[in-house]
Amino acid sequence: MIIILKQNAKEEQVRELKESMRNQGFDIHESTGANTNLFGLIGDTSIIDEDLVMANDAVEAVRRIQEPYKKANRQFHPTDSVVDVNGVKIGGGHFQVMAGPCSIETKEQMTSVANSVKDAGAGFLRGGAFKPRTSPYAFQGLHDEGLKLLLEAKRATGLPVVTEIMDPRDLPLFDDVDLIQVGARNMQNFELLKELGKTNKPVLLKRGLAATMQEWLMSAEYIMAGGNEDVILCERGIRTYETAVRNTLDLSAIPVIKKKSHLPVIVDPSHATGVRDLVEPMALAAIAAGADGLMVEVHNNPAKALCDGPQSLTPDAFNDLMKKVNKTRTFFETL
Ligand code: PEP
Ligand code: MN
Repeated sequence: MIIILKQNAKEEQVRELKESMRNQGFDIHESTGANTNLFGLIGDTSIIDEDLVMANDAVEAVRRIQEPYKKANRQFHPTDSVVDVNGVKIGGGHFQVMAGPCSIETKEQMTSVANSVKDAGAGFLRGGAFKPRTSPYAFQGLHDEGLKLLLEAKRATGLPVVTEIMDPRDLPLFDDVDLIQVGARNMQNFELLKELGKTNKPVLLKRGLAATMQEWLMSAEYIMAGGNEDVILCERGIRTYETAVRNTLDLSAIPVIKKKSHLPVIVDPSHATGVRDLVEPMALAAIAAGADGLMVEVHNNPAKALCDGPQSLTPDAFNDLMKKVNKTRTFFETL
């Protein structure tokens, strides 16, 4: 981190600033120019709050050289992380498809979709019991009853399950859930992230609706800083001015994040597009871009789905998609 001093900075203020930095364990490298005085901090500056430094009257500007995240940073962990979700690996060459309905509705629905996605080759079963809906009048999910149905489907199929948490007070209900999802709307629910950091459950962290990649990685850092390093990132589209699609799928996030971080990154083409017909092309594009997996919504009767029917694939369409996913992966492996 470089701290540029104001030309009229008082000697006393500068001395105090340097002293405080030394007390925090940093070495100081000074540079005195004709017009500019600055100093560089040597040490782990991820712990420094830039705004606090800027608040000092002697400081003109602060430039970060090192990223503000450490545990998620590839610099300190050059190899890809492989997250092991109860024996099912993801990342570092391990590719997984997570599939299932947007929300858990009935026992029949869960049994039927769970069997279909398993037969098609999915590695995880998804389904929401706590649903973040834009309208308070929309179906909010079956809550603990929904989790029971999801866990029944887990026992019946042997597939690990992924489901969303919205409130840390619900954590005791998630004991048998294999992978806990933090949805886009809660990406910056820092108290939730901190609680998940204290658990030993792998977390699927979706990108916020309007989050920069750095903000997304900082949210991963919250979980990791608490001691839980099993974080999988999920790009699910961001809010732009475009209205033809539900969100805009930011495929560039995959190579960018992979350069910055060692964490696995998967793509959710269902929420990213909101349109059933766009799921397949975007899923295949995500593979081309280097994704470690996919999350796809599948419903046995999309026309009657209580949530996200228009973007849900039928079991047959998902089966076709899986064939193309496998072919596309094989093709890219030969390149
Ligand atoms: C979901 O996965 O059902 C969901 C609500 O996703 P997102 O948080 O990405 O909108
Ligand atoms: Mn959904």
